[in-house]
Order: sequence, then structure tokens, then C-alpha cells
Amino acid sequence: MTNIQTLLRPHIADMPPYHPILPFEVLSEQLGIPADRIIKLDANENPYGPLPQVRAALAELPYAHIYPDPESRLLRAALADYHHVPAENLLAGAGADELIDLVMRVFLNPGDAIINCPPTFGMYPFDADVNNAQTISIPRHSDFSLDIESLELATRKYSPKLLFVTSPNNPDGGLIPRGDLDRLLALPVMVVLDEAYVEFAPPGTSRMREVVERENLIVLRTFSKWAGLAGLRVGFGAFPGWLMPHLWKVKQPYNVSVAASVAARVSLESAGELGEVGARLIAERERMVGLLRAIPWLEVFPSQANFVLCRVKARKAGRDAAQVKAELAREGILIRYFEKPGLRDCVRISVGRGEETDRVVEALVKIGNHGNS
Ligand SMILES: *Cc1c(COP(=O)(O)O)cnc(C)c1O
Repeated sequence: MTNIQTLLRPHIADMPPYHPILPFEVLSEQLGIPADRIIKLDANENPYGPLPQVRAALAELPYAHIYPDPESRLLRAALADYHHVPAENLLAGAGADELIDLVMRVFLNPGDAIINCPPTFGMYPFDADVNNAQTISIPRHSDFSLDIESLELATRKYSPKLLFVTSPNNPDGGLIPRGDLDRLLALPVMVVLDEAYVEFAPPGTSRMREVVERENLIVLRTFSKWAGLAGLRVGFGAFPGWLMPHLWKVKQPYNVSVAASVAARVSLESAGELGEVGARLIAERERMVGLLRAIPWLEVFPSQANFVLCRVKARKAGRDAAQVKAELAREGILIRYFEKPGLRDCVRISVGRGEETDRVVEALVKIGNHGNS
């Protein structure tokens, strides 16, 4: 028999292995620290989790044995009501992540280009690789703002089909100014605006309602961060009307589970309470920024999300960012380090409960004391 492995699609065979983050339970075992004592500030999850009424609805769940509604009608109607975007322009997904891949599958032929603006969320180039597309990287400025001139030039030069931008951006938490996004929307490209953290930004930041009047704007949102449903996998997108029939053709019919759909709907019914949780996290973010700014070997970037990016001044700290992350991990405090251009001297810390902020800041202060001695 010929080598059966040559049947693989070459671009999949050539892809480097994916390195997922270690699950919580595995890390807890490796560190010898019980899971409930680990301070997990590495994935921007909401420390408060689902609201009590969401937990109650999940415990009751009468129809788990029946396939979910392929059109997520109830959820989309609730989203339309809450966000003032017509249900006809909304599609739910198993997290925003699923919708990133769905958009690519609808637009990209092998070899087509997307534009990515690193440092940013890693799933755009990941899904582009899976879809055998090229990723053109237009790096952000050193303050993490978008390089609009270069994006305009690259769009003319490479004719990309999709341009991915994130506001607030992960990992720095900065927003795209209105005028900058307007310039990108004037380009002949589909602009995919990822607003996974927009609930932590000032009111009025979202551009989602504009999908009805623009032909080239897609906005992605999620319940993972603000509603505390990361483990249930539910997000949604707002799309121009012309695109919807094509998305419906390609979407997996049962992509949003019964549990995810119920949890998302009950969360929306209690949006006021979620707003209070969000306000608590925003206040905690500002308190954390203040405490981190007092550490002389950190440069703290302003954030409009539920995380804060810090640059580690290695000479002052006596260790680099990777070592800071590793030292905290040994104490059961998990923060995020990225082995990526533009981020090798940074750590990202998610906003948790007040006592978690205190623990992480205390550990950083202790490190600094040792570094200077
Ligand atoms: C977390 C995150 C997502 C993923 O959202 P899910 O709904 O959990 O798939 C999307 N975009 C950005 C920028 C994120 O940080």
C-alpha cells in the first residue's frame, strides 16, 4: 500500500502542532495546590461565573434529550431585543471562536489572504491556517494602536478578503478610535470587528448596530467573558443582511447546545445584574491598575477590558517576563505570558476578585524586593 499518510491535506500535514493551555485540574495536580486555592488570572474568565438564576435554569433543563433549535430563535430574539439589532442580522455560535472559523469558511479559497494586526488574539491566524489561507501581518504600533496607513496600503497591495480587528484588543485592552475604524470600513474588504470585551468598555463603544447599514462590517460578541459562560461556549455575531443566507447554508445545524442557549437567554433576562458584576470588575480593574503602577519595574498599559497588560522592565526587576510568570505559577497564581513578537517582555493579568488582585500584587511586590537585593 502507498503511504496512507500522503492522503492528508498537505497544508494540514505541514501545520505546526497546536499547544493548548494546560487545563486547570492538571496544573493544580502538577503544582500540588488544590484547584480551589489556585488564583486563575490567565484567561480573562469572569471569576463570579454564571448568575445564580442561570445555574438554577441549567440544573432544571427539561429538554437536554432533544436537539437544539438550529436557528436559535429564542436566543436571537432575546439578543435582538436587548441589542436593538434585527434578529435577521444575528447568528449564534459555539463561542465567538466558532464564528471566526465560519466566516473564513464562507469567504476564503485556499491561498486567499486575511489581514491580522498582531499582537492580538491568536485565533485569527490559527483559523486562517486551518482554512489554508495566508495571513498578512500588519503589526500594531508600540503603544498597540493600529497602523492605519499600513493597513490601507496592504489592503491595496494584497487584496485581502477579510481584515480582523479587535476592540478592546486582547492582550492590551485598548480601543480602536471611531475615525480609525471608519477609515478601515472605507476599504474594499470585509472588516471583522471582534468585540469580545466591549461590555467592559464605556457605554456606546460598540459598533454592532451599524451592520444593518454597512455592507462590509461583521461584529463578533461572546457570553464567555462578561456573562461568565466561557465553559458553555456561546457567542454571536451581527452580519450584513446580504451575508446571512450564506452563513445559514454553512453553519453546523446544532452548533449551540440547549444548555448554552438557556444560559445565554437567562443571562440576558438578568442583564442588569450582569451589568453590576461588570461594574465591579471595571472598578477592580482600576484599583489593580493603581496598585500595579506603584511597582517601579512594571509599565502598565491602560485597559478598557477585564485584563491588564504590563511590560516587565527586566533590568529593574532582576528577571524577565517569562520568569515572573513562572515564579507566580509556583505559588499557584496563574497569569499569561506570550512567546510572541512584541509581547516577550509582557505579562497579562486578568481582573478577578479583590482578594485575587491583592494576592497577585503582593507576589509581584515580593519578587521585586528580591530582584533589587
Ligand atoms: C476570548 C476571546 C474570544 C473567544 O470567545 P468565545 O466566545 O469564548 O469563543 C474571541 N475574541 C477575543 C479577542 C477573545 O479574547
